[in-house]
Amino acid sequence: MEMKPLIYSQIENDWTGYEVTLKDIVKSDCTYQHYLRYIGEDWDKPKRGPAIIVDSIEKGIKDLVLKYLKDCYGDRLELPKKGTLAGFIDVGLIGCIEDCLIDIAVLPDGGFAASAEAGKLPAWVMALAATKAHLLNKKRVFVIAVNRNNQKWLSFSISGDLSIVATEVLEDVKELSERVDGKSPHVGRESSCFSCGFKKKCVATKRKAPLPYSVKYLNATVSADLCTALDRYLVSLNERDSGRAKFCVHPSEFSVFQCDRRIAYGILGVDKKEKIGAHLRRIFDVGHICHDILQGSLKTSLGDACELEVPVDHERTKLKGHCDGVVTTPAVKTGIEIKSISRKGFDKLSSAKKDHQKQGTLYAVPLDVRRMNYLYINKDTGSIKEFVVPISKGLWHDLAARAESIIKETKNGSMPERITKEYLCRQCPYAWSCKPEIGSKV
Ligand code: SF4
Ligand code: SF4
Repeated sequence: MEMKPLIYSQIENDWTGYEVTLKDIVKSDCTYQHYLRYIGEDWDKPKRGPAIIVDSIEKGIKDLVLKYLKDCYGDRLELPKKGTLAGFIDVGLIGCIEDCLIDIAVLPDGGFAASAEAGKLPAWVMALAATKAHLLNKKRVFVIAVNRNNQKWLSFSISGDLSIVATEVLEDVKELSERVDGKSPHVGRESSCFSCGFKKKCVATKRKAPLPYSVKYLNATVSADLCTALDRYLVSLNERDSGRAKFCVHPSEFSVFQCDRRIAYGILGVDKKEKIGAHLRRIFDVGHICHDILQGSLKTSLGDACELEVPVDHERTKLKGHCDGVVTTPAVKTGIEIKSISRKGFDKLSSAKKDHQKQGTLYAVPLDVRRMNYLYINKDTGSIKEFVVPISKGLWHDLAARAESIIKETKNGSMPERITKEYLCRQCPYAWSCKPEIGSKV
């Protein structure tokens, strides 16, 4: 059974897309388009699965950064009540610290790169943030721009007269609100027609584009303070207990790391001193978001035939972990392994990666699964690639033999040789105990 069509079809079925947000208004200057959306008019072509997934990833990233802000700033972060304009337009407020509004903009790879290079933000991000700040009577704005593709981030400070652009945006809000109330004629803006999803339904009189929002009165400058503080918080998470099982072999670690000694430390239950950097932590967290999106749609689509986060506990090899999913049909039992990946890595993929096949095999045999379905999700575009791989008993025997040999060595009271490779040892959570000779302290 192919999972990709099931996921897309479920996601497309569940999509309604009628909500209008302030972001929609600042991104497209045709308020008639927003009116059609609000009244539930059918789109010319329903939105496709990848684009819906991108929206879900963006929402997940915003929620994630908000969680970081809450953890990092505690009570200093003031959370505005859920704000709407005209009773139906979601403003998308994030939070405030003292007199400063904090906003989050999730940008595609190309958009983020352009912002980082020019030290500027897209006009719609500036207009949106300025309007939110104006609504909350804040004079300063910080925007955290996050690259959807690779989770790099930058914070920007916006200064200038926020009220000028905010007034223009709120004029458009008023126009939309009046149209919804039947008090405004059906007038659209032809500048947005080329990308409009309602061309077939449009009966508006089309007028020329209005002048762009006056973002020229605003200045955006890169201001590292906010991201630096959040990075420090993310690094501090290494001090917290990860809650992962001890005295075992984790398939995700075993399949990637070549050092047998590292695996032996895990079997012996030695404390880990994690060295997960802030950027890598964000990549992991966004990976969880992508997992949730795909797992959620598979579960809804397949119901009881699909079990998620299936525990694996294999006594002989001490393997312990969770398989992302197992789908059982009368004909076959298939394991699911989900991997989120950047656009560049995704484009190069022509088969499931070797390390991932090892990990999948370590789940599959203990679970008596005959084949693994590797689902790769492109974080930048929402596209999915799917590779179905029958389980190789030969690969399993090689992996099991390695695990058993390490277990045997630990039982004999000895430890495997150090691998002593700087790039591996520097990130190893057991380096504090292992003390490899790599020139400088790790
Ligand atoms: S077709 Fe053009 S004028 Fe009509 S709703 Fe779409 S953007 Fe507006
Ligand atoms: S510090 Fe290096 S040699 Fe020691 S366990 Fe870790 S990876 Fe292996």
